[in-house]
Formats: sequence, C-alpha cells, structure tokens
Amino acid sequence: MARTDFNTPRLCVPDALAPGASLALSSDQCNYLLNVLRLREGARVLAFNGRDGEYVAVLAPQSRKGAALRIGEQIRPQETPRAIDYLFAPLKHARLDYVAQKAVEMGVRRLCPVITRRTQASRVNIERLRANAREAAEQCGVIWLAEVDEARPLAQALERRAPGGVLVFCDEDAEQHNAAVALAARAPPAAVSLLIGPEGGFDEEERAMILRAPDVLRLSLGPRILRADTAAVAALALVQAHWGDWR
Ligand code: SAH
Repeated sequence: MARTDFNTPRLCVPDALAPGASLALSSDQCNYLLNVLRLREGARVLAFNGRDGEYVAVLAPQSRKGAALRIGEQIRPQETPRAIDYLFAPLKHARLDYVAQKAVEMGVRRLCPVITRRTQASRVNIERLRANAREAAEQCGVIWLAEVDEARPLAQALERRAPGGVLVFCDEDAEQHNAAVALAARAPPAAVSLLIGPEGGFDEEERAMILRAPDVLRLSLGPRILRADTAAVAALALVQAHWGDWR
C-alpha cells in the first residue's frame, strides 16, 4: 500500500468513482470538508469507495452548505486487504469505538463482534462500528473498507471462520511463552482469525470449546493481564509483523 501523501484529506464515498464524475456530498461530509477542515473551492481531496481505487478530486462548493467533488484521475488501484479477521467481544461505547478504529489501522479485513458469556455490551451498534471503520480508513490511508459482521455467539463465530485459516486464540490463561517465536515458527497462513475475549475473560467451557477448534494457536501476550483493547493492538502487531504486511 504505497500511501502517496499524508497531507491531502481522504474521503470515503459510497458512489462509483470514475474520472470526470461529479459527486454530491452528504451534509456530514460537507460539514467535515467546509467547516472542520475549512477547505475552499478547488481544494484537493482524495476519494475512495473501497471498490474502485483512490482518485484525486477537487472540491466544488455549490451553495453555502452544499458541495460536490469533481473526480479526476485514479492515483491508486484498488487493493485487497490481508485475510485477517478480528473476532472480539464488544466493549462499551468509547472503548468499542477505539477498538474498531485500531483494528482498521492495524489492517484487519473484517470486524467480527462475538458474544461470550461475560461480554459486557448486550447489543452491538453495527452502524456505529461501520462509521468508526470508515473514519479510521480515511485517516490511516487504507483503501479498502473493513467489513463489519453482525454480532454472533462464540460457537457460531468459530464455525464461520475463514476456511484454511489459523485461529489465533489470545488466552489470558495460556502458559507464558514467547508469542513472537510461536508465530515465527509457522508459515504465514492463508487467513487469520484473531480472537480476543471480554473484560471478564473466557470461562472454562468457552476455553475448552475454542481449544477444540481446528487449527487453533493458543497465544500468551506476556506476563500481564492486558485490557481487551490493549490486547487487540498487541496481538495484531505480532500478526502483522510475522505473517502480515509489516514484514
Ligand atoms: N479475565 C481477565 C481479563 C481478560 S482481558 C482478568 O480480569 O483477569 C480480555 C482479553 O484480552 C482476554 O480474554 C484475552 O483475549 C486478552 N488478553 C489479555 N491479557 C492477555 C495475556 N496476557 N495473554 C493472552 N491474552 C490476553
């Protein structure tokens, strides 16, 4: 992913992108460009939609509040993300926003909320997760849009794993070992499902069920108990460094 410039603001749009297209912007997007970034007519913006690659665009205010983007040439072809799925027990609001954004910045392809016995959040706001994933993509330079699955019970989430993938089970009860050595000892798998538990951790029955799953790698993340959002970033860093696009 050759990120050309970190200065030009990026906007994720739903529309199809092609040179010469003119896109009307939503009121939120107008507000962001005109009022938050205080961009003026002719300002350069990068537009992507997760399907057609990234295009240079020029801001064309249409009225005091309205604006449009005039699409120029494509500057980055569409890329597909590594097959890293992040299975996580949803946390409460602000922390959930945080993990959604961090997972995208760390390059995951899909966010899979998993309901375990001790999951705190009773219902998961999928639209909110999608908005956070979009915002993180705009900010960190990824050109794809991380998918956000519906919340599923643990057993179902395990069944729906990417075929041929490794389940990296971050287990706070795992015997301590060197996680980097454990990952480096295996060739990078075709797909990774990274599983992080809730604040209260996994219970024994869940742990036994997870360890019975095919191709599971039980991972210790060191001698301390990390909060779920810390564990997510630490585990994703290990996965990207050994099997992903940090190599
Ligand atoms: N039950 C624990 C807290 C769980 S932390 C307690 O309160 O003592 C939330 C999740 O982060 C865990 O389910 C696990 O997936 C991950 N995690 C936290 N620390 C970890 C560690 N040292 N090794 C592996 N996973 C860890």
